[in-house]
Amino acid sequence: MFNEVSPFVLPDKPVEECGVFGIYGPGLDVARLTYYGLYALQHRGQESAGIAVADGRHVELKKGMGLVPEVFTGHSMDRLTGHVAIGHVRYSTTGASQPLNAQPLVFRYAKGMLGLAHNGNLTNVAELKSMLASTGSVFQSSTDSEVLVNLIARYNANSLEEALMKCMIDVKGAYSLLIITEQNLYAARDPHGFRPLCLGRLADGYVVASESCALTTVGAAFIRDVEPGEIIRIDQNGITSTQGIKAPSPAHCIFEYIYFARPDSTMDGFNVNRVRREMGRQLAREYPVDADIVIPVPDSGIAAARGYAEESGIPFEEGLMKNRYIGRTFIQPTQQMREIGVRLKLSPIREVLNGKRVVLVDDSIVRGTTSQKIVAMLREAGAREVHLCISSPPVIRSCYFGIDTSDEHELIAAQQPLEEIRRMINADGLHYLSLEGLLGLFNPRSDHFCTACFDGRYPVEVPKPKESGKFSLE
Ligand code: SF4
Repeated sequence: MFNEVSPFVLPDKPVEECGVFGIYGPGLDVARLTYYGLYALQHRGQESAGIAVADGRHVELKKGMGLVPEVFTGHSMDRLTGHVAIGHVRYSTTGASQPLNAQPLVFRYAKGMLGLAHNGNLTNVAELKSMLASTGSVFQSSTDSEVLVNLIARYNANSLEEALMKCMIDVKGAYSLLIITEQNLYAARDPHGFRPLCLGRLADGYVVASESCALTTVGAAFIRDVEPGEIIRIDQNGITSTQGIKAPSPAHCIFEYIYFARPDSTMDGFNVNRVRREMGRQLAREYPVDADIVIPVPDSGIAAARGYAEESGIPFEEGLMKNRYIGRTFIQPTQQMREIGVRLKLSPIREVLNGKRVVLVDDSIVRGTTSQKIVAMLREAGAREVHLCISSPPVIRSCYFGIDTSDEHELIAAQQPLEEIRRMINADGLHYLSLEGLLGLFNPRSDHFCTACFDGRYPVEVPKPKESGKFSLE
């Protein structure tokens, strides 16, 4: 899951796979606005980036491996001119990390040119690929997104909306999609609304993005979220909405609020920072600890730690400093120097920790390796007690909808009881937020979320888990 090209995450976290950004704006520099939009979504994918621009006759594409500013340098955007654009940032799990799999995907077919950017994972891709291959389709990349392109090309007899409606019947799983033709911008969201997608307005155009933070960055006003199962066309006449497929009860990914999304984003009616703070408050109600200070694991634990501190009355302190300058060129430590990996990213503040009973707040535990190292680090810096409070329930199942959460045999909570995990990471106490407590924060829409990685209740059928291996913290 963690490798040399994941500079922004600790090696023990779920990883978001993609972010998408699209703009329709005659008279605007749509390529540069897309570039800035992708910058705001960089946390959703750091392995590749791309922008496709259409000018009424042609779709031009630039994409490559690396962060947004690494892919788009100097004058590399000068040829990206037009009135409509889509962009994509990617972290790969479906399909290898290689230039061919970077998005947007741009194709020429019977009706002209088409560019596609996809966030999410399809769950029936093997079946669809074999159906398409048996009737003559060829695939250039190993991404599931190419299946969508083939289906759209196959079904587009009358209109792109009609093609997307037919695709929505065939395709299962998670997709927040942006598509450009030579003329128009289209957006579509799967019927469960797994991955976020929202719509904004500029003075002279419209923007669609994975998260509202990207709208804010380019100066667009938030209009609304794209509804589950909805297809939106944006053209010279403005916005046209079609319900592409009947939507069941929504199943928005609850992990977006726990860890992935930027705190300044608001998605499906809930602000991420506010939700995280409430998670911390709820955690403090469920697990009051007799302690001297509350500290977060930065950055994703900060809001929940503040909430815990507010509710418990225990002072909030910054006890760990994060090094924000570990980039792609960071050379991973050798086997003998593994401890350095975490220490480079996080460093304890002895003056804060020495002699203290500490509540350490983190957003999640996946494999437990990082938690173990952080607890050891706090003890070395003089912490008298370390109580680890996690602002999410235990992660016990893999995700099949666009998040890399590791295989089940690597998930510590799927393999070990609570007391054993506490012992393995050497904490004085270990507490997870309850699923009921988490969902209660979204009342009265508590049933609008996917919680499958916590309870195994997948909203759609998923492939069988991979073969189990032996769990180890090593
Ligand atoms: Fe999100 Fe977990 Fe559902 Fe995946 S399984 S969509 S990570 S809540």
